Amino acid sequence: MTNTITTTRLTILLPAGRLPLAIMDKANALAQKYQLELYLSTAQNLRLMGIKEEDLPAIREELAALGAQFKGPGKFPIPRVCIGVRDCSMGVGDPERISALILAKFQGREKTKQKFKIAISGCTLACSGVLTTDIGIMATRKGFDLFVGGKGGPSPKVGRRVLRDLDEQGVVAAVAELVEFHDAHTETKQRMVKLIDHPEFPFKEVV
Ligand code: SF4
Repeated sequence: MTNTITTTRLTILLPAGRLPLAIMDKANALAQKYQLELYLSTAQNLRLMGIKEEDLPAIREELAALGAQFKGPGKFPIPRVCIGVRDCSMGVGDPERISALILAKFQGREKTKQKFKIAISGCTLACSGVLTTDIGIMATRKGFDLFVGGKGGPSPKVGRRVLRDLDEQGVVAAVAELVEFHDAHTETKQRMVKLIDHPEFPFKEVV
């Protein structure tokens, strides 16, 4: 009879893709101790893979003690960002800052319905996938443009621009309106693209 070892994974959320050094050191130590793989996910989070079920509580506890937050059902999505003006010569805006403002408002939100994602770019080149993400926030020389309804997958869609030239608080307010609309019109999970033609959808396309 073959002994099958069941393994699982643990995903540490990394706002704006920043990996705190203490968590990096701990993840490295845990990976060596428990023979794990470390994977930087396309959502810019850090995943520990190959964890034996019985080791998961101890690993989780060691990381939580350093302030690590973990992916899980109902968690508000961490925006995917590019590096922006702080470290890219093309950048005109700071996606990390917008991400922090959004998370300050929403990170404690319980029971967020899936499946919308958020992306933020520091310029119109949109390296972080702003145009193919449910809610896309793009920095321009005049402020921020907001796109809704983008998605990838087998039937990709380009998001629809619904607001132009927002300031930072305007971005947060618009995201709040979209999140509430999504919540009110979604049973369990739904992409934003399914909602943008709803008669009560709060925004129209702008060119
Ligand atoms: S979207 Fe613009 S600012 Fe962001 S990485 Fe790409 S070129 Fe740089």
